[in-house]
Amino acid sequence: MQVGIPRETLPGETRVAATPETVKKLAQAGHRVLVERGAGTAARYPDADYEKAGAELTDADAALGSELVLKVRRPDAAELGRMKPGAALLGMLDPFDADGLKALAGAGLTAFALEAAPRTTRAQSLDVLSSQANLAGYKAVLLATQYYGRIFPMMMTAAGTLKAARVVVLGAGVAGLQAIATARRLGAVVEASDVRPAAREQVESLGGKFIDVPYETDEEREIAEGVGGYARPMPAAWMARQAALVAERCKQADIVITTALIPGRPAPTLIQPDTVAGMKPGSVIVDLAVERGGNCPLSVPGEVVERDGVTLVGLSNLPALLATDASALYARNVLDFLKLVIDAEGRLALPEDDDIVKACLVCKDGQVLRSA
Ligand code: NAD
Repeated sequence: MQVGIPRETLPGETRVAATPETVKKLAQAGHRVLVERGAGTAARYPDADYEKAGAELTDADAALGSELVLKVRRPDAAELGRMKPGAALLGMLDPFDADGLKALAGAGLTAFALEAAPRTTRAQSLDVLSSQANLAGYKAVLLATQYYGRIFPMMMTAAGTLKAARVVVLGAGVAGLQAIATARRLGAVVEASDVRPAAREQVESLGGKFIDVPYETDEEREIAEGVGGYARPMPAAWMARQAALVAERCKQADIVITTALIPGRPAPTLIQPDTVAGMKPGSVIVDLAVERGGNCPLSVPGEVVERDGVTLVGLSNLPALLATDASALYARNVLDFLKLVIDAEGRLALPEDDDIVKACLVCKDGQVLRSA
């Protein structure tokens, strides 16, 4: 099969969907691999390495005109116009965006949105949300260190003792847990909150303190347990109790990292403007949910702003700031997914009883298969 890897065109997107390592495996499996010149440059994978791995270097038209196109982000209208009806597309395709899916279907594609994979043990090796969120959580802490005018660990020096930074992490999923681990490694004192009761043990196992917002009704606990490991919107009464506790913890904090998301919905508001006003001058908030509306309404997407002496870091797409590793993990996720949809003869096959394929298949032969 002819497999194309175009250069990503979305501004700021530095990742690439295949690396020389994964291209080599595809070429060894007998596929003809076309890589657009410069596709890996921003992620520090030179063209020569792709060539050595068995790829042909081409222009964008040839790569996008392949039978199977591997992407990081959803193609825009110009890219879709260069793809062939009947071709297959694999990438992070925003499965909750109905108009976006319609555009893919309109181009006559069979499309797999990798973000829609179930969070099961079998799907772990192709879980792009996890591989990328993990890096985002790590980078969020490093960004916090950059904008914080003090240090993270306690330091006893001849000139006196410096206190350890206090870090609050809101949302203890994949990104939040990595943020906790990274902040702890740097010597910070860490507290974290999540709606899901299972998060407590995970936070504590990383040396963090769990901010306990008790459930007052069975309904609250049932909603908090979520579906398929994902959170659901909590009742207003629980959110109000959480907001009060969070406001109190944020007053004591030096750094707040927010990662709370609910699939297919705007991010929940966890830090109100008056909570920001009550924080210490010099504190830093890194809002990882900024692309989905933010966990703090004062965060500005793509910007670092200061309010009431608090720096709000709203930079988006943090995995793109670690493009080499982010691409390496993403490309391996892609390769693992391909094992499910390429048969022994090297052709695209859609196993109907495979739960992972079923979940990711958002368009088939020009039809949208998923209600966004
Ligand atoms: P996510 O990115 O959708 O959300 C991030 C976190 O925000 C979640 O932990 C969520 O519970 C939390 N959150 C939502 N509303 C909140 C609120 N009001 N206050 C505080 N926190 C709030 O989640 P994710 O990181 O993708 O992980 C979702 C779940 O999937 C987790 O349980 C994770 O352990 C699980 N998971 C399982 C697998 C697997 O089994 N293969 C892989 C990855 C993740």
